[in-house]
Amino acid sequence: MGTTIQTLEHNLDIAEIRRQFPVLNQQVNDKPLVYLDNAATTQKPLAVIDALKNYYQKDNANIHRGIHTLAERATADFEKTRDAVKTFIGAEYREEIIFTKGTTEGINLVAQTWGRANLKEGDEILLSAMEHHSNMVPWQMIAHEKKALIKIIPINDAGELLMDEYEQLLNSRTKLVAVVHASNALGTINPIKQIVQLAHRHGAVVLIDGAQSTSHLDIAVSDWSADFFVFSGHKVYGPTGVGVLYGKRALLEAMPPYQGGGEMIGEVRYDGFTWNELPYKFEAGTPNIADVIALKAALDFIDVLGKQNIRSYENSLLQYAYSKLEHLEGLRFIGTAKEKVSIQSFVFNDIHHQDLGIILDKEGIAIRTGHHCTQPLMGRLAITGTSRASFAVYNTIEEIDRLEAGLKKAIKLFR
Ligand code: PMP
Repeated sequence: MGTTIQTLEHNLDIAEIRRQFPVLNQQVNDKPLVYLDNAATTQKPLAVIDALKNYYQKDNANIHRGIHTLAERATADFEKTRDAVKTFIGAEYREEIIFTKGTTEGINLVAQTWGRANLKEGDEILLSAMEHHSNMVPWQMIAHEKKALIKIIPINDAGELLMDEYEQLLNSRTKLVAVVHASNALGTINPIKQIVQLAHRHGAVVLIDGAQSTSHLDIAVSDWSADFFVFSGHKVYGPTGVGVLYGKRALLEAMPPYQGGGEMIGEVRYDGFTWNELPYKFEAGTPNIADVIALKAALDFIDVLGKQNIRSYENSLLQYAYSKLEHLEGLRFIGTAKEKVSIQSFVFNDIHHQDLGIILDKEGIAIRTGHHCTQPLMGRLAITGTSRASFAVYNTIEEIDRLEAGLKKAIKLFR
């Protein structure tokens, strides 16, 4: 184990990567910070911070309609990110890339436009038992309005989808399957290609929540034939307030606009309007220009390191964490699927996750505790919440040793 990590560290030069993240280099409660809350949000490399600063210092202007130099520069950089995203997620056309403020907005957009136009009474929506509230509540809202039915694809105790049961649930009334690519609470990676294939056999549209997968796994929306794919900038080393909705061109073209305002229009009269072509039809108002521009720097950062390198390094961290934590008395892992991203939840029967979070913070260690916006999943697992450590490419085995020591300290305090 140790040797593998040494080699991988050498491959990726983790020390050099860490130098690109100034925030990591600080003391919290007089201890060096150990940041293990990457599933909530990743830290930002200097390239992203510099892109934001550079935009505001040199290029700030409103985009698309300006004819002056700054407006042209800002527009060009904004649209460059669209091309970068297209390549990054393997889409076919740049018009299929819609900028949103994040995963949540992307899903709401699809629910309120595609959902409102296409769902009717008696239609069925399939969601998995491990969905984030963001991929559940927007569907509950539109299903209630349209009198459509939501059905849940069950999971086993390891946190894996029961694919046979999924197949059984599909039928001619299934209009939509909305599933998470990688679970934020469990780490489970779902078999997306197979999920899409089965749904398409029944004529259902598939939305994939890529919030937790996009920084770790290869994304190939076109190859998967995914209908919709969403992710957030802030979980891929990019800024907050920016996200992406990918939609198949034909679907997006057939959908009505989401919000009305500037940019999304073709022509406006006192008695009505026509709408703009893709992708602008779905981008009403002044967008989050600076953050969209800086998102490209984040995607470039990932590309330079290489997804495969990132994945195998993070996987080694996860395996190392298993080997260190599994011996701790009373600790039970939550989420033990075979295929996982670098997220590990755990519980102690006699230590509340919130107390644990507070004790670890005193040690300078940041983890997340609670239901992780997956309350129904917590109910399915008969727990109220977990403690969750989630690893990014800048984390180290030494930090996992610190987590282990912190947990040992907490156990001593409580017993
Ligand atoms: N889905 C999953 C799986 C997530 O982990 C998150 C963020 N925790 C979201 C959706 C929502 O993302 P955002 O808050 O960036 O819109």
